[in-house]
Amino acid sequence: MKSAWLLLVLIPVLGGLLAFVQPPPRPAAQPGRALPGGALVAFSKGYRVSFYGLERLHPFDIGKPGRIARHLVEQGLMEKQDFAIADEVDPTLLARVHDPAYLASLSTPKVLSEALEVAVPGFLPKAALDRRVLGPFRRQVQGSVLAARGARAHGLGINLGGGFHHARPAMGHGFCVYNDVAVAIAAMREEGLEGTVLIVDTDAHQGDGSHAFFAQDPTVFSLSLHQAGIFPQPRLPGDLDQDLPAGINDSDFLAVLAAVFERAPQDPAFVVHVAGSDVLADDPLASLGLTPEGLVERDLFVLRWARQRGVPLLHLLAGGYGPSSAQAQARSVEAMLGELR
Ligand SMILES: [Zn+2]
Repeated sequence: MKSAWLLLVLIPVLGGLLAFVQPPPRPAAQPGRALPGGALVAFSKGYRVSFYGLERLHPFDIGKPGRIARHLVEQGLMEKQDFAIADEVDPTLLARVHDPAYLASLSTPKVLSEALEVAVPGFLPKAALDRRVLGPFRRQVQGSVLAARGARAHGLGINLGGGFHHARPAMGHGFCVYNDVAVAIAAMREEGLEGTVLIVDTDAHQGDGSHAFFAQDPTVFSLSLHQAGIFPQPRLPGDLDQDLPAGINDSDFLAVLAAVFERAPQDPAFVVHVAGSDVLADDPLASLGLTPEGLVERDLFVLRWARQRGVPLLHLLAGGYGPSSAQAQARSVEAMLGELR
């Protein structure tokens, strides 16, 4: 009996040690293939943060990208070779967007704990933190760069991750370390994108980080619809902020979205949609009242708006913490790809 108890204790300990010495998966990069109608979908199994269970202390659904990718393959919409598989983003690109001192400070557990809202123990080796926690974020950032490139080449680029809209130039918070919206825009500018960029942030939380990046930049219009009175507090003003009341239903949300679009630039050169699923009624970190059908309609509205104008659209999945989050976003991506066919 005693030995059975000993095994019960030893197996998880040994498993933890094994996980510690084994490097996390580093799937090889792959360019991906454009889908019928003009879309590129970016993803990597390496998006998943895996840090001895610490990642489970935050309600963020780290398995969401993988479940959506599986759904797209199971539905016959994509083959594995179609995904643009992201490697880690170029560190020089990160350093051009973020404050280099902030980037260096991410190796300290205190700064990382603030960004991730999870207490990262100080005794953990820095190299393991970098590889297992920051590495997956850097892959998701690169996924947004690949999807942005795909949008410019084909019309629509979807990253099955990213949308880290709370990360500011020299500060991370709200489970956002690097701001992939800002990084993707910087990469596209380097690759010749001219004209106005329109950021449409429909995540339940205000896109304060994206606002911070572009407050002084007249070429980027940063628009956010979000629930009033929740994180982040205090907020930073953007070009257009629209508060939403708790419990707002699908039709009222869609009416506000359409009205907000009338106040946005009508001829942007590029659109980024930060399309969080925490607008759903079952989300534990917000209390808006959308149904999965409403979420799909929201995403199709933005897609149609961009397509009617012939503007490339980068779609990012962002936050979403409730039980129906992954399934609703899987249906949304399916509907968007269906719309193109
Ligand atoms: Zn959110």
